[in-house]
Amino acid sequence: MNESQLQQYRTRLLDLREQLRDEIQEGIEAIDAEIHPVGDVSPEPGEGLDCELALVHNEERMRQAVNEALRRIDDGTFGICVACGRVLPQARLEAIPYAGCCIVCERKIEDQPPKPD
Ligand SMILES: [Zn+2]
Repeated sequence: MNESQLQQYRTRLLDLREQLRDEIQEGIEAIDAEIHPVGDVSPEPGEGLDCELALVHNEERMRQAVNEALRRIDDGTFGICVACGRVLPQARLEAIPYAGCCIVCERKIEDQPPKPD
């Protein structure tokens, strides 16, 4: 991968991080509004809150992945699978610029039951 490609990914990742930051902020505000409703409007309990929490949780994880990808750009290891060391296919990075490992490793990680330490 050359320098200009790296720059493009960096720009995309930075944009994505901004977007996620705003979405997380909005999600947190929505959660806050559910927990502490303003005025005497009683909120509908249930689905709304769970849904928002799951969404924010996912976005936080994605933001983490974006941060790690940005660090790999600085380290010079961007585009290399963190698990097996193979070069990630360009198509995968195009689709998911924050992908840390190849599809094979991702499947392995997902299939593995958590090990007791
Ligand atoms: Zn791999």
